[in-house]
Amino acid sequence: MFDVQAIRRDFPILDHKIYDKSLVYLDNAATTQKPREVVEKIESGYYNVNANIHRGVHFLSMAATEAHEEARRTVQRFLNARSSNEIVFTRGTTESINLIASSFADACMSAGDEVIVSVMEHHSNIVPWQIQAARHGIVLKVIPMDEKGELRLDAYRELFTEKTCLVAVTHVSNVLGTVNPVKEMITLAHERGVPVLVDGAQSVPHIKVDVQDLDAEFYVFSGHKVYGPTGIGVLYGKEEWLDRLPPYQGGGEMIASVSFEKTTFNELPFKFEAGTPDYIGSVALAEALRYVERIGMDDIAAYEEELLRYATARLGEVEGARIFGQAAHKGAVLSFLIGDIHHYDMGMLLDRLGIAVRTGHHCAQPLMHALGVEGTVRASFSFYNTKEEIDAFVAGVERVRKMFG
Ligand code: PMP
Repeated sequence: MFDVQAIRRDFPILDHKIYDKSLVYLDNAATTQKPREVVEKIESGYYNVNANIHRGVHFLSMAATEAHEEARRTVQRFLNARSSNEIVFTRGTTESINLIASSFADACMSAGDEVIVSVMEHHSNIVPWQIQAARHGIVLKVIPMDEKGELRLDAYRELFTEKTCLVAVTHVSNVLGTVNPVKEMITLAHERGVPVLVDGAQSVPHIKVDVQDLDAEFYVFSGHKVYGPTGIGVLYGKEEWLDRLPPYQGGGEMIASVSFEKTTFNELPFKFEAGTPDYIGSVALAEALRYVERIGMDDIAAYEEELLRYATARLGEVEGARIFGQAAHKGAVLSFLIGDIHHYDMGMLLDRLGIAVRTGHHCAQPLMHALGVEGTVRASFSFYNTKEEIDAFVAGVERVRKMFG
């Protein structure tokens, strides 16, 4: 496998002291830290190839355009998409889902039509559909889960009706860590002629994703969760589907011609990229994808699984620990509560020990409701975390537990 200490040297922030304690960064599901290469790419982009792209005839503009389009091809290869026309740059997962919700509902849905989501969706994959529900009268159906935090596929099958237009489901839960059987779920949807959108925000950083193998119509993710910059993300869509959908925003670059009488739209993927894109961010995202590829997605998955197994066992030894999410196939996310200690107190006290975890509802309030809690503490791991850090984290949890008697 890889050398974790060597990897940690690529992430200068990991050496920081917080309140004079070594930083233990376990908030990777919220955002990941950035390797030197990514930050340097942003800096050298602005210093060396900064010019607005696509319409320029001058040297810098052409160089910036080529770098942006090469970044698109890197994303295409990373996801194993058929064509770079299928890769649309967005601001992130949230914008990608809003784009599809808006354009898909406009083109393909009318009052009474149904979208299937799951109980463990992030608000980003609930609220955009509710906005469309208010506009178009569409209906949301919800796949329930069992007590282990696995989606109930029997109930999923039952949700389909002749009104079902789309399934929109997360690949990996940001709270429970559950890796949903999306390939099987996509096959089941396709057997009923229904397309599928997969929220890959928590999968792309941790497991190898092959969009052709999965066969989803749409697959979305955020750059900042996969060691890339904030403010850039990706919408993958099958070409025939993106062709069918109307633009999401109007403006520069997404048009073929404009007159006051009639405007025609640009070809893919530009039809969905109105305005000046984040051409520095796209190039830095491509650098991040090359970085994780160099480490190896399979090695990343294996190492993080080992971290999760270790952390689950160690945390399980703490008196009164309740771990949320016991799926057989889990990503490196550990949501928990200790006795009746409030998640917020736990988070704040761990912070004083230099340990960064997330507390609260994790933008998944319907899931919190299903779990019967208001919030949890969430530790989420990356390939740069170590067992020593997990020991420090568990010791911190134990210390807080003792403080509360
Ligand atoms: N979906 C899931 C499963 C997530 O974990 C997140 C981020 N917490 C999002 C969507 C939203 O991602 P972003 O804020 O980068 O758009």
